[in-house]
Amino acid sequence: MAKEFTASSLVEEFYKRIQLDDQGVHAYLTLSEDRAMQQAERIDRMAAAGEALPPLAGVPVGIKDVMVTKGVRTTAGSKILENFIPPYDCTAVARLEAAGAIVLGKMNCDEFAMGSSNENSAYGPVRNPRDRSRVPGGSSGGSAAAVAAGTAVATLGSDTGGSIRQPASFCGVVGLMPTYGRVSRYGLIAFASSLDHIGPLTRTVKDAAIMLRVIAGRDPMDSTSADVPVPAYEVELTRAVRGPKIGVPREYVGEGLDPEVRAAVENGIAKLREAGCEIVPISLPHTKYAIPTYYVIATAEASANLARYDGVRYGYRSKDARTLSAMYRKTRDEGFGAEVKRRIMLGTYALSSGYYDAYYLKAQRVRTLLARDFEEAFRKVDAIVTPTAPTPAFRLGEKADDPLSMYLADIYTVTADLAGIPGISVPCGQNSSGLPIGLQVLGRHFDEGTVLRVAEAVFRSPERSTF
Ligand code: GLN
Repeated sequence: MAKEFTASSLVEEFYKRIQLDDQGVHAYLTLSEDRAMQQAERIDRMAAAGEALPPLAGVPVGIKDVMVTKGVRTTAGSKILENFIPPYDCTAVARLEAAGAIVLGKMNCDEFAMGSSNENSAYGPVRNPRDRSRVPGGSSGGSAAAVAAGTAVATLGSDTGGSIRQPASFCGVVGLMPTYGRVSRYGLIAFASSLDHIGPLTRTVKDAAIMLRVIAGRDPMDSTSADVPVPAYEVELTRAVRGPKIGVPREYVGEGLDPEVRAAVENGIAKLREAGCEIVPISLPHTKYAIPTYYVIATAEASANLARYDGVRYGYRSKDARTLSAMYRKTRDEGFGAEVKRRIMLGTYALSSGYYDAYYLKAQRVRTLLARDFEEAFRKVDAIVTPTAPTPAFRLGEKADDPLSMYLADIYTVTADLAGIPGISVPCGQNSSGLPIGLQVLGRHFDEGTVLRVAEAVFRSPERSTF
């Protein structure tokens, strides 16, 4: 029987749920109640007037706090933006709202999206709703945790080296990173501009398809956004996967891969075989250079992007500086956390004269080789399947003092960011303690349709779309 409810009552219900359930998880940093109620009332008025409702009418969503929201505090998880109220909206957020979605609030994340566990947030960590002693992954930890906890129906995250897919894997939800350029970055607080992507985190593959269709497409405000037609992904999803070739890279099932993750991913691959896919072993020979390449390029770009936080234009300003240069120094010293400082120092070093050729230029060359690995592979196969992360969610504090081991959490995800290809993480099983495990599907540039279809074949669960 059809149940009648209003967008306003749904929003109230969600805020009640957040009040009750978010305390122990801490996925939300800021609630945008006024904005949410205004939008809900708009939807209710449209419904009452019998107008056609847009595709996401009344869907309660959360936005990672690296996307600016007009009139709603946006911190990037950093103390340096503690009181920053942006004067405009990120394009992806504006498109969600135009499609009827209701923005409940801003999601906790690692400071400036730097991290793999959400422990780098200046506002305290997020806990994994499936096991609160564990991390939700990062840096879009709040975005993944809220979807898993049911305190948002869908969220937006950002992915520079894995930050949508890895937390999706840790929390047992779907996380989609579109092709570079597919979704406008206008209003996304920059971490590493040539690697940053906005994408959805959802409960189902179909929900991810609908979210992507809404946010994708050319935006005159971002010159890197591509003028490539956006298909109705959710309709494409209903086409069966018939006969595609799926590559499984030899380099991704090696050392360091947790045996239970391996078993779950093999199980997912078996499902693809049953669905009629041909499984082909492939090689991506430069994979071993991906993490060092990523950490040179990402930190170099970050060091330039973060130069704007100087206490002059916006955000935090140190109170007790006597000279201009002391003000810059103190503002940045007091405003940035330890990991952000580490990255600025690494990036500044890699870009400094005398080292530029040895590190930055070299890394750019290896980036080209990594992209060629994929080009080569996609001549033979239509999609590539890998684990999303080498382990399930680890415990809070387990890697916090060991940045190198933390960096390895992204070993399977950074290559796609470096090559600019799309990727999704879809739940494919659990380990013996019930922790979720994600399988990653990668595809050709702008072929999110295939990526989604292959993911759906793995996901294929009785759970229906929540839209
Ligand atoms: N964990 C990676 C990092 O710390 C990726 C972050 C991201 O994708 N935003 O840089």
